Amino acid sequence: MAATSHASIKSRDGVSTLAGRWPLLGQRRPLVAYFAAIVALDLAAIVLFAASTDVRWSDVLTFAALMACGAVCIEATRRLGMPAGVARDLLSAWWLPVALLLPPVYALFGPIVLQFLLQVRVRATVLYRRVFSSAAIGLAGCTASVVFHRFVDDPWPLSRGNDPLILYAVAAAVLFSLLNIALIALAAHMADPDIPWREVLWNRESVLLDIVELCLGVTVTIGCGLNLILLILALPPVVLLQRSLLHAQLQAAARTDAKTGLLNAAAWQREADTEIVRARRTGETLALLIIDIDHFKRVNDAHGHLVGDQVLAGVAATLRSQLRDYDVVGRFGGEEFVVLLPGADAEEASRVAERLRVRIGRTAIPVDDILVKITISAGVALMSIHGDDLIDLLAAADLALYRAKELGRDRVCIPAVQPSPPPTSDDTTP
Ligand code: GH3
Ligand code: MG
Ligand code: MG
Repeated sequence: MAATSHASIKSRDGVSTLAGRWPLLGQRRPLVAYFAAIVALDLAAIVLFAASTDVRWSDVLTFAALMACGAVCIEATRRLGMPAGVARDLLSAWWLPVALLLPPVYALFGPIVLQFLLQVRVRATVLYRRVFSSAAIGLAGCTASVVFHRFVDDPWPLSRGNDPLILYAVAAAVLFSLLNIALIALAAHMADPDIPWREVLWNRESVLLDIVELCLGVTVTIGCGLNLILLILALPPVVLLQRSLLHAQLQAAARTDAKTGLLNAAAWQREADTEIVRARRTGETLALLIIDIDHFKRVNDAHGHLVGDQVLAGVAATLRSQLRDYDVVGRFGGEEFVVLLPGADAEEASRVAERLRVRIGRTAIPVDDILVKITISAGVALMSIHGDDLIDLLAAADLALYRAKELGRDRVCIPAVQPSPPPTSDDTTP
């Protein structure tokens, strides 16, 4: 199940003292109102359903057994840690049976128990995000539960392989996933309206995970309905899946620069090396760009580091949107970015670098209530012409970048190509 994004939720007006103590107040107003509405709706549903539900000990026992499985899952993966950003887990494997087998009120309580454990045992994040996640998952589960019970009077025959019941269960699980995705996507979009809806809603990896969660949830529901003891057999595979899922997420986080979402320097170098070896073997052309924001220190001095960080994220987004999927883009450090263009020759590399320069120079990056304008300088180096390995190409591109700065910034430089004899030290042309 997805939890709210940590990275995408930005502060509205810098770090005020009040927002420092109550981080929710630092968020955009529509987002605060949305969070409050979801939590209020969740509380109202808890009161309403608690008042109309008879406590049956068999239900309480089933709920406790499923929550205990969730707790074991959390404890078994706790040492791996949890990446910042949108974290995915497989806890729906335990929430879904709660929603399908028990009265709706239990679906509202389940996420509270497990989010509390996540907060205390795994990662103490800002409290309002946990509260929102509990409320969103609770409401999605409760709605799925109400709809399922409207069509199915007694869900326990599900375990006897009753076909229509299994279809209803799958439909309820799909409803649960869709509602949860919609509630989280709305929050992500309100936190940063610049993120396109498609990006918030559609992601192949995450759809695959939703399907896995759905299958696990329905399978555990059937097992749980047969005999509670069967949960012991379901636990190890779910724990193993959860561990490998977290492992993959932590690996991805270790490759990514947190401020820009691009590859970090180490990961970029690894990928660039692989591309360079491939180009050497196949004889294909390849170009490397180093891009540096001009007078970036002035942006920080004039608007503060937080705005500086958002400008870095804006430049990264422009780079990503202007380049092909297989171009390797990374943040080299500070306000420097590196791009590897497989298959590009001198003409194409200059054209791409020039397009990036013009595009970034033309865009006024909106940061809160102000528009920040910046320019960039870029140095270009070409495989086989300026070097045969990463170190040589980086050195050549860096020299060209230095030249671009010297010549007045806001320009692209490419070291002049000398047919023969070898080039002199001052041979860069703007
Ligand atoms: P030039 O045109 O010569 O490149 O000038 P510049 O000001 O961009 O370069 P300089 O090397 O003098 O300053 C780089 C600035 O980038 C200084 C540093 O505070 C800032 N910086 C580096 N990393 C970050 C970061 O992660 N966030 C923010 N906000 N600023 C950063
Ligand atoms: Mg620099
Ligand atoms: Mg700079």
